[in-house]
Amino acid sequence: MTDCVFCKIVAGEIPADRVYEDETTMAFLDISPNTKGHMLVIPKNHTTNVLEASAVQTAAVMATVQRITPAILKTVGSDAFNLFTNTGKTAGQVVLHWHVHLIPRFPDDGIHFWPEILYANGEAAKLAVQIKENIV
Ligand code: 5GP
Ligand code: ZN
Repeated sequence: MTDCVFCKIVAGEIPADRVYEDETTMAFLDISPNTKGHMLVIPKNHTTNVLEASAVQTAAVMATVQRITPAILKTVGSDAFNLFTNTGKTAGQVVLHWHVHLIPRFPDDGIHFWPEILYANGEAAKLAVQIKENIV
């Protein structure tokens, strides 16, 4: 993709603080981190999101996460992290090249992710049945 910032990082056309690279994946520091060591792990070949990615890409990205996370945590002095991927504008996806955020956590780091909602009586069970029926 010519107009993709992460493809440009893969191609070396724009700089990034890279920490790991193999045939299929790359990991580099987020330019605007939530905590020290906030890493982005991507497949090198352009794909928009986790649903569009191939099984090979998803397995490779997770293998890279497993490989580099101990080093990240050791380096920044953390023993916990969040791993997530934003998918779609409503979920906050800005860069349309699939990436996984790996965010080291620290006590009192001020990050509070999600509000909670309540299901009405029986609503969760009904929802689970509907979702099961929609799995193809
Ligand atoms: P999204 O909101 O799409 O899940 O996250 C995109 C992430 O990419 C953001 O956290 C943002 O700071 C990061 N980012 C955007 N452009 C660049 C860049 O040019 N270099 C690096 N290292 N990170 C970037
Ligand atoms: Zn791309």
